[in-house]
Amino acid sequence: MHVLVINCGSSSVKYQVVDAAGGDALAEGKIERVGAEKSHADAIGEVLAATAGHTFGAVGHRVVHGGERFHDATRIDEDVIAAIEACVPLAPLHNPANLAGIRAAREALPDVPHVAVFDTAFHVRMPRRAKTYAIDPAVADAHGIRRYGFHGTSHEYVAQVAARFLEHDLADLRVITLHLGNGASACAVEMGSSVETSMGMTPLEGLVMGTRSGDLDPGVVLHLARALGVDATDDALNRASGLAGLSGLGNDLRDIQDRAEAGDDRARLAINVFAHRCRKYVGAYAAVMGGLDAIVLTGGIGENSVEMRRRILQRLEFLGVRVDEDANRDAKVSHASPVADISEARARVRTLVVATNEERMIATKAAAVAAGIKQVKAAGPIPIAVSARHIHLDRAAMDLLFGDGSELTEYKPLSQPGQYAAAEKLTIVGPRGRIEGVRVLGPLRRSCQVEVSRTDEFKLGVDAPVRHSGKTEGSAPITLEGPKGTLHLKEGLICAWRHIHMTPADAEAYGVKDGDFVEVEVTGGPRDLTFGDVAVRVSEKYALEMHIDTDEANAAELDRGAAGDLVYEDIVGSTASLQRKR
Ligand code: ADP
Repeated sequence: MHVLVINCGSSSVKYQVVDAAGGDALAEGKIERVGAEKSHADAIGEVLAATAGHTFGAVGHRVVHGGERFHDATRIDEDVIAAIEACVPLAPLHNPANLAGIRAAREALPDVPHVAVFDTAFHVRMPRRAKTYAIDPAVADAHGIRRYGFHGTSHEYVAQVAARFLEHDLADLRVITLHLGNGASACAVEMGSSVETSMGMTPLEGLVMGTRSGDLDPGVVLHLARALGVDATDDALNRASGLAGLSGLGNDLRDIQDRAEAGDDRARLAINVFAHRCRKYVGAYAAVMGGLDAIVLTGGIGENSVEMRRRILQRLEFLGVRVDEDANRDAKVSHASPVADISEARARVRTLVVATNEERMIATKAAAVAAGIKQVKAAGPIPIAVSARHIHLDRAAMDLLFGDGSELTEYKPLSQPGQYAAAEKLTIVGPRGRIEGVRVLGPLRRSCQVEVSRTDEFKLGVDAPVRHSGKTEGSAPITLEGPKGTLHLKEGLICAWRHIHMTPADAEAYGVKDGDFVEVEVTGGPRDLTFGDVAVRVSEKYALEMHIDTDEANAAELDRGAAGDLVYEDIVGSTASLQRKR
């Protein structure tokens, strides 16, 4: 499928025709002086004239701000346009330009699916602790103040490319991606999701950028606003700071590096502050993820500046990062050859330079949405099961807790074939409190896993990550007390990610596939609720059932044994609603 990718800014429209299958750019260009001399509609007209020989299966639009609503690339309709419009106050410079491009392109190509790909979408699933600024929630809600993050398309793309290069599933890796261009941001990618990123409510927070300050004491903003006025402060921090402001030389790092070499102290300081900030974030994000497998550098600076990479990556040996000087100097990346490994062979953490390609990512996502447009399907009821806190044990843990060679006793079967609640129970002990009588589920597994709710977590005094079952690496420590012994697990405590088990036949019927995330709406009761980010798990071994924990069930006032009907509300197979039968 050929996809027209449109990146509509306030003064220019960039476009590419991308073959979504191979990712090759078949045509590209930039229309300048938009806004002043020509309208966005004129510019889109020029784009279509320049790409007249192509037939498009989809048009992918880069949209900077998707607010809270958009988790992924989304087919554009009037409702989506209104939602993008609602995000204008959050991105006053970018979203209006993006919308102008969308409107003009839809009018010019009414029969092709148009898809919005959001810079913010990759970060939407960040944990609340990372999204939340420590201010009064009423103030935050009233003004939409939280961390949204940007550059998501690039962070996601380079993390995926890195995982492929390392021959690992991204879901098994902890990666820090540094997108260092004119705008710059860092992202902690844990198990394929963004769990932290340095840009915040706006692209001003975080790393030092071409002309933006990045992090500073919020008191500085108040102080400057009082002294200079709000607009002048905006200008000072967004357009006259960063590398340009520090060096006094403009925002091109090449010039700053040349001047630094010639002895210019301001240029040297600019480079040092930039690198120091990046290194600080690497340390912080390794701590956030409880470990690190790879660092990825991308963007104009990350891909090209040998000197800046060296400065950022120095003195990180304690994390397992070891850069090979020669490999760093020789690293050359391009769309055709997008990865250079600059780590020493013995390094525990791989350090990669990766050429980002946001247009390719936008094309891939737009093509997937366009190809995924499905017809409404009738689907049967889905039972909802509420999982109480429980424990999975491995053989060694069983021996230690219940005695050598002991076996679990089946108490009652669970809905998933072969699984059962055992008669055996244990006490879970955290630093703050203990929970007794927690049931063990059988059969034994290859590793231990303890699943609790957020409420339990507070009682125990631990911070358990929300994880898919089996993904316990880097999760929280916990102690188990049994009749024959006590077991300290270094990791294994999680809050289970809500999910639906289904067979391949069910998946076919519902029009979803393994790894999809769906929204599940519970309606018809006193507390209607939409569960977002429900993971779809498909296997021949499963029986159709949605699993949520007790907190989630309480939030929706669901009774045990609730069942519902999965109903498609629209033609894109990612929104399903589950209606409760009472
Ligand atoms: P944008 O965020 O606008 O897309 P880019 O990702 O193209 O920006 O990055 C632009 C930055 O990359 C500029 O600061 C530029 O100086 C820097 N850059 C590009 N090539 C080099 C190089 N060879 N050495 C150092 N810096 C470079």
